[in-house]
Amino acid sequence: MMGPVAVRAENAEAPVRCDPMGEQTILVVEDDEPIARALAGALESQGYSISRAATGAEALSKVRAQPPELVLLDLGLPDVDGVEVCRLLRELDPVLPIVILTARHDEIDVVLGLDAGADDYVTKPFRLAELLARVRAHLRQPRSDDQIVLRVGDVEVDRGARRVRVGDNELDLRAKEFDLLAFLVSEAGSAVTRERIMSEVWDQHWFGSTKTLDMHVSSLRRKLAEVTGGASEPAVITTLRGVGYRFEAP
Ligand code: CA
Repeated sequence: MMGPVAVRAENAEAPVRCDPMGEQTILVVEDDEPIARALAGALESQGYSISRAATGAEALSKVRAQPPELVLLDLGLPDVDGVEVCRLLRELDPVLPIVILTARHDEIDVVLGLDAGADDYVTKPFRLAELLARVRAHLRQPRSDDQIVLRVGDVEVDRGARRVRVGDNELDLRAKEFDLLAFLVSEAGSAVTRERIMSEVWDQHWFGSTKTLDMHVSSLRRKLAEVTGGASEPAVITTLRGVGYRFEAP
C-alpha cells in the first residue's frame, strides 16, 4: 500500500531508483558555486556520485528524471523558495531523504523546512565532518525491507510500510520522526539515553548538538496528542532529565 503523499497519479511511476552499480547518488541543490563545488568534492571523496542543481526548477526536474538517494537542499535559491522546493520534492517522493542547508540564524526556515517534509538540517557555515555524518545516517535508514510491526497499547508502528496508527487514526510523520518513534516504541517502558537515541536513529558516531532530537520529540508529542489527547490512556513520551526519554507502556 502506498503512503498518503504518494497517491498523485502523475508520480506513480517516478520513485524507481536506478542504482545498478550500488553507487549512491546525492543531489546537491545550491546556487552558490564555491559551496556547491566544495560539497560535491567532499561527497565524491566519500564514494558518492554527485548530481548538481543551481535552481529549484532544475532540482525538481532532476528528481523527476532520476531520483537520487538523498538531496542536500539550500533554502536560499534564486528562483523558487527552498521551503517550497522541499514541499514539492516530498510530494514527488515520500521517502527521499532531504537535508536542508540554511544560514545559522534562520531558525524559522528550519522549522518551515522540517514542516515541509525535510528530514534534517545543517546550518551554514557547516562543519564538513558533521554534514558527512548526517548524510551517512540518512542513507543507512532501512527504506521498506523491514517488515516488523510493533504494537504498544493503541499505537501500532508498521516498520515495513513506515506507517503509524493510533486506534483508527494514522499519524502523518516525517522520516526521522518515524524512525525516532519506532525506536522509542521498540523500547517501550524502558529509559533510553539521548546518546543511544542519537546513535540508533541519527548516526553511530554522533557528535555535537542533540537539539535536533528535542525538536523531533516535541513535534512527535504534538502529533500524538492530536490523536490521543482525549483518550483514557494517551501515548506519552516522558522526559527523563539528564538521561533521555521513555515511551510509556500502558
Ligand atoms: Ca543560496
